[in-house]
Amino acid sequence: MDISYILNELGEDREHYFNAIAPPIIQTSNFRFNKVDELRAAFADEMSTYLYSRGLNPTVDILRKKLAALDGAEDCLVFNNGAAAIFAGVLANVKAGDHIVSVSKPYTWVQRLFDVILPRFAVTTTYVDGRDATNYFNATRPDTTFYYLESPNSWDFAMQDISAIAAYAKQHNIITLIDNSYCTPLYQKPIEMGIDLAMQTATKYIGGHSDTLGGVLSGTHAMMKKIFDSEYLNIGSGIQPFNAWLLIRGLRTLPARLERINRTTQDVVAFVKAHPAVKRILYPFDESFPQYQLAKQQMKEAPGLFSFYVKAESRQQIVTFCESLQHIQMAVSWGGHESLLLPKCAGLQDHEFDAANPDHQMMRLYVGLEEAAYLITDLNQAFERSGLK
Ligand SMILES: *Cc1c(COP(=O)(O)O)cnc(C)c1O
Repeated sequence: MDISYILNELGEDREHYFNAIAPPIIQTSNFRFNKVDELRAAFADEMSTYLYSRGLNPTVDILRKKLAALDGAEDCLVFNNGAAAIFAGVLANVKAGDHIVSVSKPYTWVQRLFDVILPRFAVTTTYVDGRDATNYFNATRPDTTFYYLESPNSWDFAMQDISAIAAYAKQHNIITLIDNSYCTPLYQKPIEMGIDLAMQTATKYIGGHSDTLGGVLSGTHAMMKKIFDSEYLNIGSGIQPFNAWLLIRGLRTLPARLERINRTTQDVVAFVKAHPAVKRILYPFDESFPQYQLAKQQMKEAPGLFSFYVKAESRQQIVTFCESLQHIQMAVSWGGHESLLLPKCAGLQDHEFDAANPDHQMMRLYVGLEEAAYLITDLNQAFERSGLK
C-alpha cells in the first residue's frame, strides 16, 4: 500500500462528515442502538461494532487502520501510551509458570513489569545480551513462552537479529514482541521479519509535537481480538478520541519530519564525532558502530537519537555543559519538534562520579526539527563553557 495513501486517505470517509478534510473527534462515551438484536450482537462481539468508547471509537479506528497498514499488520490496537501497549501485549500472552526471555536493559517500565509485577503471578524472566541471537536460544527452556525484544535500544542502540530470533521462536511456539520505537515502521518492519507483536510508542515520532502520549501494538486479527476482548477492555487504557486525532494529525507529516531529522542528524553527528572533547559516539548508522552491518541490513534509516561519551574528569563539567545550552533543552522523551539532551550522570551525585566509568560520561542527544547550524552552534558554545576539551 502506498504510504501517501495510508497517511492521507486510508480509514477516512469524508462524505460521512461534511467532506471535512480533517476527521471529526467523536468525543462520546457510548453509542445508541435502534434494535435489541443489534445490541445483542454488540454484547456478543464488542470488536464488531461501536458500543462504548472503552472498546471501539470511530476516531480511534481511523488511526488504527493507518497504523496497522504502516506496520504491514492485519490489525492493531492503540493505547493511551506505549507502556500500556507493552503491558497488555505481555500480559495477554503469559500465564503462571511461564518463562520469558528478554533483551537486557529494556525500557525502564518493561524492566519493572518483568522484575516486580510478573513475579507476583509466577512468571519469571531471564535477561540476555541480545546482540548475539544464540543467547536467546540458549536461555530458552521448556517453559519459555515469550521473547521480548527492543531493537535498537534507545540509549546504547544495541540490536538483535530480528529475523533469526523470530524464526527460532516460531519453531518453538514462542510468542515474540518487539519495541520498535526507535525506528518506527517507516524505517524497520518487524512484522515482515516474522515478529508476532510490533509495539511502538506513538508519543515520540508519530505524535511528533510533544503534546500527547500514545502506544501501538500490531499483529494478526486473532491476536488483536484476543487482547481486545480481555486486557484492552479490562485495563481500559485505550487511547482517547482527542489524543487519537492529534496522532492522525502527526501522521500526516511523519515522513517529512523523519526525512528532515535524518538530514540534520548526519550533520550534528559529524560535528559531535569530530569534537576533541568527545571520546566516542554511538549511532547505528555510523561506520564505527559495532553492529553497523546489522543496522544497515534491518533498518532503512537511523533517525534522531544518538549518544556520545565526553572526556569529563568531573560530573560538574557535564553539568556545566548541559546547563550552558541555550536552545537544546534537557528533558526525557524524544521524537518531537525540539532537540533534547539527557545526561546519564543525572542519576548520580557529584561524589559518585567515576571518570573511569564510560557510562558516567555518556549523554544522549535527540535531534529535532531545528536547523543543523543552530544546534551545532549551541553545542559548540556549551563545550567551550564547560571546559570539556
Ligand atoms: C517512550 C518509550 C516507551 C514508552 O512509551 P510511552 O508512550 O512513554 O509510554 C517505550 N519504549 C521506548 C524505547 C521508549 O522510548
